[in-house]
Amino acid sequence: MGQRLASHSEDFSAWYNEVVQRADLADYSPVRGCMVIKPYGYELWEAVKGGLDRRFKETGHVNAYFPLFIPMSFVEKESEHVEGFSPQLAVVTHGGGKELEEPLVVRPTSETIIGHMYAQWVQSYRDLPILINQWANVVRWELRTRLFLRTMEFLWQEGHTVHATYEEAEEETLRILGLYADFAQTDAAIPVLVGRKSESEKFPGALTSYSIEAMMGDKRALQAGTSHNLGQNFAKAFEVTYLDQNNETQYCWGTSWGVSTRMVGAIIMVHGDDQGLRLPPVLAPVQVVVVPIYKGDDVKHTVLEGVTELASELRAGGLRVHVDDREEYTPGWKFNDWEMRGVPLRLEVGPREVQEGKLTCARRDAPRRSGKESIARAGALEQVSGLLTEIQSSLHDQALEFRDANTHEPKDYEEFKEIVEDGWAYTWWCGNPRCEESIQEETKATSRCIPLEQAGDEGRCIYCGEKAAERVYFARAY
Ligand SMILES: [Zn+2]
Repeated sequence: MGQRLASHSEDFSAWYNEVVQRADLADYSPVRGCMVIKPYGYELWEAVKGGLDRRFKETGHVNAYFPLFIPMSFVEKESEHVEGFSPQLAVVTHGGGKELEEPLVVRPTSETIIGHMYAQWVQSYRDLPILINQWANVVRWELRTRLFLRTMEFLWQEGHTVHATYEEAEEETLRILGLYADFAQTDAAIPVLVGRKSESEKFPGALTSYSIEAMMGDKRALQAGTSHNLGQNFAKAFEVTYLDQNNETQYCWGTSWGVSTRMVGAIIMVHGDDQGLRLPPVLAPVQVVVVPIYKGDDVKHTVLEGVTELASELRAGGLRVHVDDREEYTPGWKFNDWEMRGVPLRLEVGPREVQEGKLTCARRDAPRRSGKESIARAGALEQVSGLLTEIQSSLHDQALEFRDANTHEPKDYEEFKEIVEDGWAYTWWCGNPRCEESIQEETKATSRCIPLEQAGDEGRCIYCGEKAAERVYFARAY
């Protein structure tokens, strides 16, 4: 441990980089812009995967795997798609010591190769819908990178579905968006805004893009998941057609949607504090750490016996428990270490606790002293489970309170500029991309999303003063 962590409130960016490394989540790689995900960070990612994968399967989706390499000509078939992605492509020109006849793209996303396969798999309306997801890595040549938030290679899931009608595709797009929001709020304890992206912020090649947006600890926004209605754009580029009930050929309607290792970055940035990470119990690799406290060998035996019994009782109840019985570190050092790693609940067990049939608990969601309490050893499983549930909702509520306190409705553009310096603005926008562009140039804030639910009233665009039918969130974003 040693040195103090950079201040969360004063230097958020340094704080983030230090937490990622000191909590043992990830490390820099010898290849610039790539990251090494360490076991503790990978366990957290596996928990994210688990929560999403369960939801996909519950809604009828299945997993498959498509190749890492995509023929260059595929990417060029959809014009907006190639225009959007070409600056970020990694291209393989040589293989086996020879120049390739056709260069291969390392997938930045897989709409094209999956579209190519769907064209062969779909013949008639009876083959629809296809609801496939893949867990994979993708590569986008990023110039400015940050661990978990933006790396050249990252892990994600990408769902790709095809349907018979626009309505079905739109329904699927929104179903996934709702499922992402549910995961973020229920599992990751991150309150999110759900909305449509503006034309300039949408996915290259999509008809409509939707996203979930979260406020980070420095009040910047992070797009934590996207769901796209692709319309018939990719179906037309790849000839994905079906014969309808009247034996007429129709183009399919597609969707694609993804959540990446960015979600881990969001969890760090939404919940962390000056002591380090704070992980939501639902996703935490270790939910409870037990620290035995003793001096002298005679007491040691009694304490360790009590700790072992307690740990197996909690594990039998389905909790993820770690006993920190390392002898080379003091209890105080261990407390700091597990606080840095964001473990939701710490149990301290010393001779007094064993003798009196009690446990000392320290909650990670509350500042040091206020998070301490004593519970009875008898019925520990029930009490500890109850505390974890409380911690889960308290982390969510703290994040929601923080977001609400830092979101404002500006009365004019001057006020708008002040608000986006240090928070989110919720305001009228006429829909003209030129206003959006000017706002971004002048304030560095971008439109984050257009909430699905609008009041139905009308206002005046915060930038140009023209009539506006929708309110939009603007913020500086990662
Ligand atoms: Zn305007």
